[in-house]
Amino acid sequence: MDKYAVLKEYFGYDEFREGQEVLIDSMIAGRDTLGIMPTGSGKSLCYQIPALMGRGITLVISPLISLMKDQVAALNQAGVHAAYLNSSLTAAQYYKALDFAKQGRYPIIYVAPERLTTPEFLEFAMTSEIFMVAVDEAHCVSQWGQDFRPSYLKIKEFIDRLPNRPVISAFTATATKEVRDDIIDILELEQPTVVTTGFDRPNLYFEVAAPKDRYGAICDYIANHPGQCGIVYCLTRKVVEEVCEKLLKDGISVTRYHAGLSDTERRNNQDDFIYDRARIMVATNAFGMGIDKSNVRFVLHYGMPKNLESYYQEAGRAGRDGEPAECVLYYGGQDVITNQLFIENNQDNQELDEFSRELIKERDHERLKRMTFYCFTNECLRDYILKYFGEYGSNYCGNCSNCQTQFEEVDVTEAVRALIGCVKTSRQRYGTTVILDTVHGANTAKIRNYRMNENPYYGALAKIPSYKLRPILNFLQLEEYLYVTADEYAIVKLTERSEEVFEDERTVTMKMAKETEKTVKGDPASKGKRRKHAAAEGADVENELFEKLRMLRMEIAKEEKVPPYIVFSDKTLTHMCMIKPKTKEEMLSVSGVGEFKFQKYGERFIECIQKHDS
Ligand code: ADP
Ligand code: MG
Ligand code: ZN
Repeated sequence: MDKYAVLKEYFGYDEFREGQEVLIDSMIAGRDTLGIMPTGSGKSLCYQIPALMGRGITLVISPLISLMKDQVAALNQAGVHAAYLNSSLTAAQYYKALDFAKQGRYPIIYVAPERLTTPEFLEFAMTSEIFMVAVDEAHCVSQWGQDFRPSYLKIKEFIDRLPNRPVISAFTATATKEVRDDIIDILELEQPTVVTTGFDRPNLYFEVAAPKDRYGAICDYIANHPGQCGIVYCLTRKVVEEVCEKLLKDGISVTRYHAGLSDTERRNNQDDFIYDRARIMVATNAFGMGIDKSNVRFVLHYGMPKNLESYYQEAGRAGRDGEPAECVLYYGGQDVITNQLFIENNQDNQELDEFSRELIKERDHERLKRMTFYCFTNECLRDYILKYFGEYGSNYCGNCSNCQTQFEEVDVTEAVRALIGCVKTSRQRYGTTVILDTVHGANTAKIRNYRMNENPYYGALAKIPSYKLRPILNFLQLEEYLYVTADEYAIVKLTERSEEVFEDERTVTMKMAKETEKTVKGDPASKGKRRKHAAAEGADVENELFEKLRMLRMEIAKEEKVPPYIVFSDKTLTHMCMIKPKTKEEMLSVSGVGEFKFQKYGERFIECIQKHDS
């Protein structure tokens, strides 16, 4: 079978996505390969297809047990013999799987990195024909990444012991140069084919809001999106507990996940969510790596994460099926401080020396700052993210809260001069709050203690409400007219550009959201406009049929004991609603329906569609 036949037969897709074909061809040609593609872009398929073309066994290295289990279940559903070898198996199961592996029953085997150099596994590997070692989540080899795993360093050790060097391929969604170089160096990729695809996820809608009542906002959001699965990320375990409990009281189907729960509870809760038994998952960032649930329709953040890498990864768990999905970040004033404390008290790098630890801390503070700017920027949110990852998008995406809220260009020269003047005349000694309070003319003990009520700019901007002053200060930071130190004091300092604003003819303008657009609850008034971006657009038309197909999917998932999205994705069901296939041929033209799955359940879905139509 050629690669197109494999794609259609096993996976039910007609065409490759961006990047996939080049990567696949490279592996088939026996070259080392590195794929850097965003979450949800279809990296697994890149190594699975060459693995299924009959050249020997492909070992897939993956960091998480849940991830392996999921991928193997998906492959089995597609009619591929695959297995995983990790610590979740009993000794008997492990030896049985290894035995089958020796007999050559599995073209694809998922292995935990720490298993690679064990005697049993080595014995198998050295006597079998290993075509390829595919390293998934390859950024785990790098100390620069956010998920360094020392066990990943065993991969190279393992490969070096094999009698024949296999093809080595590596995949990750982390694109920074340091990480990329580390992957190539540490895995010793030989003249690899490197493919980096764009980081944009056009189907995701981005929004930032600062509602007065954060819980209320989240609860409203969930209530306004009935029937859709979503994740609510919180910064701490305590907040997870609180939010989960409240939602439960408010009658929402919800479960929770954080590192403080027992293994059993975590596993059960995760399964409840994956199998659509619980609609909402409330979790800390401990949840999600390796969760391939493709029908997550929204990811809400109850609090600002520590950096944009984390944010984009977590938000990116929405809409993996390519259907419209939404990512909303609800931030509050305390979030920055909470994150600063996390950074200061980070115990993760104990084995590193003092110098490296300080360096990492400094970088973490810098990353946090860029995350904070995301919450305050008036620019296109997508553009901000893409720029952060080193890409340049257009300035306007039309599918984020900033683009959709109407902008107006406002002359802020007077305010800017007062703010910078205040920093200057108080000799760059104070933090953001003192500066803002001063220009606003606040009459507080602190201001009097610092004698800022005697500052020439005291009360200079009393007319401007303080909620408007903060964005101006942030704008000055973004444009580097001012900068704020990364330590706990957050002192405002002048920059080389500061003086520019005092030049005679100079005016400074910034884009500001129009007055009327700012509603409480933090929900931009563009709600009506946003409807069209709401999830499952196609399904709106045929909502009823979609629901019926969803129920059938649930029924089959229960029979097969797999998560519903592994039976068929939301996208596949939506596609069915549009095509309404009546014959086998028509059914096979639906994206995501391959020969094997058709044999198993094609008829049942056709029947369901016919019943609905008659
Ligand atoms: P990644 O590992 O890059 O985050 P996955 O490999 O989990 O992404 O794939 C995400 C989703 O995209 C899966 O549901 C997968 O079946 C789907 N997918 C992959 N390749 C294609 C394709 N060529 N056409 C349609 N869907 C695809
Ligand atoms: Mg993946
Ligand atoms: Zn935008």
